[in-house]
Amino acid sequence: MRLCGKGFFPVIFWVMGLFLSRELSAADEPGFSTFAYGDLSVTALLDAQGTIAPSMLFDRSQEDLKKDLEKAGVKDGAFPSWINAFLVKRGGELFLIDTGTGNPDGVLRRLKEAGFAPEDVDYILLTHFHGDHVGGLALPDGTPVFPKAKIYSALEENDYFLPAQGEAPAGGAALPSLFKPYKEAGSFNVFKQGDEILPGVVTMPIFGHTPGHTGFLFQSSKGPFLFWGDVVHVYLVQFPHPETTISYDVDRPGAAASRKALFAKLVKDEIPVAGAHLPFPGVGVVSAGEEGYLFTPLKKD
Ligand SMILES: [Zn+2]
Repeated sequence: MRLCGKGFFPVIFWVMGLFLSRELSAADEPGFSTFAYGDLSVTALLDAQGTIAPSMLFDRSQEDLKKDLEKAGVKDGAFPSWINAFLVKRGGELFLIDTGTGNPDGVLRRLKEAGFAPEDVDYILLTHFHGDHVGGLALPDGTPVFPKAKIYSALEENDYFLPAQGEAPAGGAALPSLFKPYKEAGSFNVFKQGDEILPGVVTMPIFGHTPGHTGFLFQSSKGPFLFWGDVVHVYLVQFPHPETTISYDVDRPGAAASRKALFAKLVKDEIPVAGAHLPFPGVGVVSAGEEGYLFTPLKKD
């Protein structure tokens, strides 16, 4: 079922909420952080920080969510969440995984603070087309922010969010304009799941949150490393209770099933992850917990 127009606007409201929360929080936290993993250098870029209300979560009772908040010592009645993007440096190549919301104090500012220029980005890998992931691709006047970058996006995501003709884009009217300059430059690529889209970069379908939601598995000299997009929005709840879903999920049962299967695989294969909505810097390891699973932030070497 296509949910025309419902994909983008909830995200916008959420992002507005994040900005409001951000003004109330300490403004001087570092907004980027770099990790070495084998031959990869992964820099987390903080786009925004805020909260998610329990009323946006499903498949866990409001009563239990209230207890979760109490157990975690959260006082303001809503769960903390973040928006992160990630820059990967491998040899002389730069890969950006998602682009944030497009807010001027977000990914673009963090990228520059970390010592990179947007012109230097070679590849942009999009986990999905929600506004907090693709919003940073172009300026409001249509200028591409990453003029030399080649974009890679899933076929299923394109089919859902950018129907060929007749229907309004599921991601809202602004969505096509973010991709337009890249399409005009011939640098917008659509992949099929399981493809090795670039040397050492394999796509991993993690469907449910959106119909083409995709992880990117990098083969580093230390082993695989996964960028998993939106597998988790609320870490305090969804690691111990992976069945919990969120209003942004297009297919809630599908999102929960994908999350459970992926957690089990990551524990078995010991693959570290970077997540868009995990506590900044959002890089760590999933392990089995007393209840469900645990997330442990990766320590820097
Ligand atoms: Zn997201």
